[in-house]
Amino acid sequence: MKNKYIIGIDLGGTNLKIALFDSRLSFKQKKFFSTAEFSQPQSLIEGIVRAVFEIIKENKLKKSDILGVGVGLPGPVDVSRGVAHFFPNIPGWIDVPVEKILRKKTGLEVFVDNDANLMCLAEFKLGSAKGAKNAVCLTLGTGVGGGLIIDSKLYRGSSYAAGEIGHMPINLKGRPCNCGGTACLESYIGNRRIACLVKKVFKKDIPLDELSRMAARNNPKAVRIWEDVGEKLGVALVSVVNLLNPDRIVIGGGVANAGRILFSRIEEVIITRAMVVQAAKVKVFKAKLGNDAGMLGGALLVKENSKGS
Ligand SMILES: [Zn+2]
Repeated sequence: MKNKYIIGIDLGGTNLKIALFDSRLSFKQKKFFSTAEFSQPQSLIEGIVRAVFEIIKENKLKKSDILGVGVGLPGPVDVSRGVAHFFPNIPGWIDVPVEKILRKKTGLEVFVDNDANLMCLAEFKLGSAKGAKNAVCLTLGTGVGGGLIIDSKLYRGSSYAAGEIGHMPINLKGRPCNCGGTACLESYIGNRRIACLVKKVFKKDIPLDELSRMAARNNPKAVRIWEDVGEKLGVALVSVVNLLNPDRIVIGGGVANAGRILFSRIEEVIITRAMVVQAAKVKVFKAKLGNDAGMLGGALLVKENSKGS
């Protein structure tokens, strides 16, 4: 590839993140926007297009310097057609042909995939899942996303929608989820749900990073909340571990910053409740690439798929 630049985009329930990379995937520039600025799919797409042109212009580049744009989307994506089916945490998106629209509006090669798949791809190539044969990656934030590496390759499933760990039910009955399901893991440990729980327990709003600091100082109520999150996540992961027998689980996203208390509880639940053979093999790691994983995954998607590479 002739030293071309790549644009990686990570669209989340809260932020739109965009980055320019050089051909060796070093960051040249990063920009963040609030997703709440864009109320409709139309305006969000216009926002993405504007951001792409801005980042090209600000770096004094031409369109021909760009190999392609890789976009992570927060919901199931048909990667064969570049269509976003729906986003559980951003209303109004039903079967939007994002890839085609963005190609037309930017005149660039564009590739789209699920955001958790791209996080998983990035952690597998460059982060905590590097060298794993079978890995499960999770992102804990507004939503709970998951991606799977099986036999050293990203596994997408029959409709490209595999890995939706956040939408595995962990109870027979429970609260309805944005996906249409009931008692999904996400509806127990998504950060909006944790925030509600915090308000109930402490009678006020406390940011989750502060809740983590309180837990680190042994505030018993804060510790109890993170242990509860770890327990529920651990139970879901017991099913995943028994089903897929992975060698690594990688956990990222804002909620993963809760640290040792959360990870110890997850490991404890897996060790005590998963089957012996699978539990003995698997190791749980914090994601290495943090907030950058989605954008890096977008750039990796371009590298893997672009005709120009
Ligand atoms: Zn769900």
